[in-house]
Amino acid sequence: MRGPINIVGAGLAGTLLAIVLARRGFRVEVFERRADPRLRAAERGRSINLALAARGLRGLEVAGVAARVAPLLIPMRGRLVHEHGGAERLLPYGQDDTEVIHSVSREALGRTLIEAAAEQRGIALHFGQNCVGVDLARDALLFGTADKVQRRVPLVPTIATDGAGSAVRVALAAAGAITVREDMLAHDYRELTIPPQQAVGLHPNALHIWPRGGHMLIALPNTDGSFTATLFLAREGSPSFAELTDDAAIRRFFAREFPDAVSRLAQLVEEFTANPQGRLGTVYCEPWHVAGKVLLLGDAAHAIVPFHGQGMNCAFEDVAVLDTLLGEHDDFGALFSAFMRARRPDTDAIARMALENYLEMRDTVLDPAFLRRKALGAQLERRYPDRFIPRYSMVMFHPEIGYAEALHRGAVQDALLAQFDTAYPGADPEEIADLSAIRELVEARLAPVNRARAARA
Ligand SMILES: Cc1cc2nc3c(=O)[nH]c(=O)nc-3n(C[C@H](O)[C@H](O)[C@H](O)COP(=O)(O)OP(=O)(O)OC[C@H]3O[C@@H](n4cnc5c(N)ncnc54)[C@H](O)[C@@H]3O)c2cc1C
Repeated sequence: MRGPINIVGAGLAGTLLAIVLARRGFRVEVFERRADPRLRAAERGRSINLALAARGLRGLEVAGVAARVAPLLIPMRGRLVHEHGGAERLLPYGQDDTEVIHSVSREALGRTLIEAAAEQRGIALHFGQNCVGVDLARDALLFGTADKVQRRVPLVPTIATDGAGSAVRVALAAAGAITVREDMLAHDYRELTIPPQQAVGLHPNALHIWPRGGHMLIALPNTDGSFTATLFLAREGSPSFAELTDDAAIRRFFAREFPDAVSRLAQLVEEFTANPQGRLGTVYCEPWHVAGKVLLLGDAAHAIVPFHGQGMNCAFEDVAVLDTLLGEHDDFGALFSAFMRARRPDTDAIARMALENYLEMRDTVLDPAFLRRKALGAQLERRYPDRFIPRYSMVMFHPEIGYAEALHRGAVQDALLAQFDTAYPGADPEEIADLSAIRELVEARLAPVNRARAARA
């Protein structure tokens, strides 16, 4: 058996990583702050369900756990947009029913991955272990409380998957080994529940959005027929969370902004008051590794805002990429450097696209020009499927196209769509897609996907 390797954080990425490392023959020691999820009830108030897409599924396949996770998944075929006046519109995500994303319970997924890790030879799981820092000079990981180090563990190396607030990242930055920038959003979130009996009439296979310009409510389905709703709203100003300080203000705000959703939120005031108000931000750090001793992976290295539903997907893709690189490098210094070189352009790109998608979800999704360009984009994809793939689809359904490539091709496609829109204002997308001038432009500006990737490699 090779190793050992430490993992700090048995969340989504850490557990998947442990399985992948153990399958490659490493002995893996996993240290998790929380109690064993197999022994406790579900935690409330923190992103109860998540959207899983093709990149995440690929990571699960690499670890051999995709079949085990499959029963937890609810396909979502599109965004169901609830306009303020009550009108509803389903905007399909992809071209057909193979292009869907999946709603999955964070708790059920986390527990399933822990169960799979516990069964895997070579993995030791240690719960209730709060990492409080790293002693680089003495090659030790430190565990305990903020006031007291109670346990030191050899660093051997360590991969930190301790999430967006990573204690390991904080310790490395304090030691001057890395630099970190955290760009916090001015918008926070709170989670609420639509119980099964109040969900009657809500499309069970859609991601529901109530876009309201500066803020929005979304809801994702759960396997028990309930939906988890999330309000994204400014922290300060008007309207904002700061204004929602008493029961009447909360009820007034929801009745005014989401009149068709308010009756579905059965425990609105109780949940709004009891659930934590989460903060959102993007983490940029440089480098992600120190001297072959420590590597940051997943949210610990590159947390992003949740508006593209890609944080977990990206973290699972990290695991798949590291798995490939493990077959190419014996030395941890070289492995960690190669990992960051391979991933950094892509994680920077998804960080940017996730921020851009907030605007799209809460605002432009209602704009007729946006909807027309979206229809035209879908039409062009049907005609030139190896060249023109809408950016959203590249991110969600095409793991063979890296995030950086999706960002680049998306910008070229946007320019083309703007050009067509100006040249043929108001024309039916079906008709203008027939024009040979458009075919020439698409062929001139967009190389076939595989050829473009081969040229970059
Ligand atoms: C509101 C919201 C909605 C989201 N929706 C989506 C979505 O739809 N799709 C998607 O792909 N992503 C989504 N995300 C992002 C996703 O949750 C994260 O990207 C994903 O959880 C990252 O996995 P991770 O393993 O890196 O971190 P985490 O899942 O956060 O796991 C970190 C683990 O480390 C442990 N830990 C933390 N500190 C310590 C310590 N000091 N010592 C020991 N252990 C520690 C934690 O207890 C936890 O188990 C969303 C995020 C939010 C906030």
